[in-house]
Amino acid sequence: MMTKETILKKYFGYSAFRPGQEEIIDHLLQGRDAMCIMPTGAGKSICYQVPAMAMEGITIVVSPLISLMKDQVAALTQAGIPAAFLNSSLEEDEAKEVLFGIRSGRYKLLYAAPERLLLPGFLAMCKTLPIAMVAVDEAHCVSQWGQDFRPSYLNIAPFIEALPQRPVTCAFTATATDKVRGDVIRILKLNDPFTLTTGFDRPNLTFHTSRPKSRKEALFSVLLQHRNDSGIIYCSTRKTVEEVCDKLQDRGFAATRYHAGLTDAERKENQEAFINDDCPLMVATNAFGMGIDKSNVRFVVHYNMPKCLESYYQEAGRAGRDGLPSDCYLFYNAQDVHTCRWFIENSDNDQLTEEQKKTVKEQDELRLKAMIRYAKTEDCLRRVLLEYFGEKAPANCGNCSNCLENYERIDATEDARKALSCIFRNDGRLGLAAVSACLRGEVPPSMEGLQLQSQTTFGLLQGQSEQQVRRLLTALIDSGYARAAGDAYATLSIADQERTALLFKNKETFFVQQRKEKKPLPKAESLSPRAPKDAQLLYRLQEWRKAQAAREKQPAYIIFSDAVLHRIAEKKPRTKAELLAISGIGEKKAQRYGDAILLTVLEFEAPKKLDPALKKLTPGTVLTNRKRGPMTCVAVSGSVIYFRENATGKVFKYRLDSSLSRLFVL
Ligand code: ADP
Ligand code: ZN
Repeated sequence: MMTKETILKKYFGYSAFRPGQEEIIDHLLQGRDAMCIMPTGAGKSICYQVPAMAMEGITIVVSPLISLMKDQVAALTQAGIPAAFLNSSLEEDEAKEVLFGIRSGRYKLLYAAPERLLLPGFLAMCKTLPIAMVAVDEAHCVSQWGQDFRPSYLNIAPFIEALPQRPVTCAFTATATDKVRGDVIRILKLNDPFTLTTGFDRPNLTFHTSRPKSRKEALFSVLLQHRNDSGIIYCSTRKTVEEVCDKLQDRGFAATRYHAGLTDAERKENQEAFINDDCPLMVATNAFGMGIDKSNVRFVVHYNMPKCLESYYQEAGRAGRDGLPSDCYLFYNAQDVHTCRWFIENSDNDQLTEEQKKTVKEQDELRLKAMIRYAKTEDCLRRVLLEYFGEKAPANCGNCSNCLENYERIDATEDARKALSCIFRNDGRLGLAAVSACLRGEVPPSMEGLQLQSQTTFGLLQGQSEQQVRRLLTALIDSGYARAAGDAYATLSIADQERTALLFKNKETFFVQQRKEKKPLPKAESLSPRAPKDAQLLYRLQEWRKAQAAREKQPAYIIFSDAVLHRIAEKKPRTKAELLAISGIGEKKAQRYGDAILLTVLEFEAPKKLDPALKKLTPGTVLTNRKRGPMTCVAVSGSVIYFRENATGKVFKYRLDSSLSRLFVL
């Protein structure tokens, strides 16, 4: 039997497990059930794919989405792992072929939709199979407390119970609340599962929130910082998707769209254009993205605020799956709250009972509140997110818009004196709004009865904005000079006479935290993690990958992820062994693409020295050798090249010399 490390290296090309993966795999291999809570992009699939390869028999993977299954199976097949899926998208003969393959024991993994599990034909077949393991992906769908309840997930436990022998069962989700966790264990009937939660932090993501006056302009400014990058722009309605996408196309951006109002064919076509980087910008509703594992998404913009942080984190988390620095922007506007409420009120899932519907609505309302808090907070965004998912986090991450914007301390002693005078003279009589109106010297009609104009402190802070004065007053309350108290509405009074006196005698200074003038963000280039020379090679590798993907009719990332191309560009491998040492290149891929990659690197390293004839050397090229006459190149492996002598059919091994201009017989 292969060890888990061998499987990881041989098929996936990785030399080390990520945090948590190994523990889950070990427990599954010992026959213990497991539940695994990891954020999107952390690497959940490996946790069941590796043990599936090590176990006798087949693993059934329950997965909610057709696109998700299709992608996973394509990636596994590429890596040399026999896998298939069964769902409604297959033609009859395709399904027959798969069923035949299952019966003859061809596959190690079978992906199936939950709706299929209890169909008599499928169940009868499964009863005859050696099922080693059942893995449940997106397991939170089983809980009505989760944001994505799917009644068909309730089929899973009866399915497992109907099998003659209970397989090891494992569940995977990115949703971490206790209620959902409890439901997953209870409803899936996991047997004393080993439970693992890994950190939700995605350090390579920079979070930004803003409340732009014009969202369109804010979007263009993001696009300027992300020239040539691939990104997703989420909008809350189809109409907005249409508007934004049109606007982008008008301005010459290669953008495409995705929402439920398009035909199946349009959706498919647009999705593929995005995945293949023909249209690097995708404008979409939240219907887009589940199961899209495009690893080089460099930014995600939420043009509107989504309905909960679970959705937000999942959607924003589609940026930077390759681990490279990426940005997540949230544009917030009060109108968004109404839209979200409308969606909550009008969402209707016929499959739910009245009781279930009520629970779902209440939970949705609570989740919306947390979302609004995130959108409006001035605290560290990462901390707010992580705390919501039940994790501790440092006070300031230094890598979100709130942390980066840097507050500065301003001496506001003079203003504080003015404000405290006003509070003192109206001790316990005026609320915050009235004190502020008095100080600013601007009285709204509703306050005309208060006679503010006749006060000595009237207009002392003339020219300052309502917000500025409000912030000053709040800071005075927070630091204990003043207090807000009262029954009907809070009125302001002096809280600490002594300290207030010190302030007036110049014996104490009062500071406020004020946002610095916003510095323009650094240019995209300077954020880029790679050196310009590598970028050239990277570009060539990407061109090769694109062409190869087109030949195989596969999305580019299934061939190699961006992260792998980056590593190749950095390490510049010259031999197969060096290639295999690169993380993300398994044996199968090295076999299939190794020569093409080594040649690309070789050409890049010494383009000028390379003899034009040698430069074009690919299998099929014919060169004439002085001694041997015409020879046909049969294979290129780094600097080693195999030729077949046309006259005799004998194969010779040659090596390119270090100047890459001459061939030597080996
Ligand atoms: P999830 O299902 O948790 O969202 P995936 O299983 O799709 O995440 O994995 C995300 C990315 O991380 C994939 O590109 C995957 O190949 C990569 N990955 C997973 N495990 C490892 C590992 N041990 N080393 C390096 N990369 C890994
Ligand atoms: Zn922060």
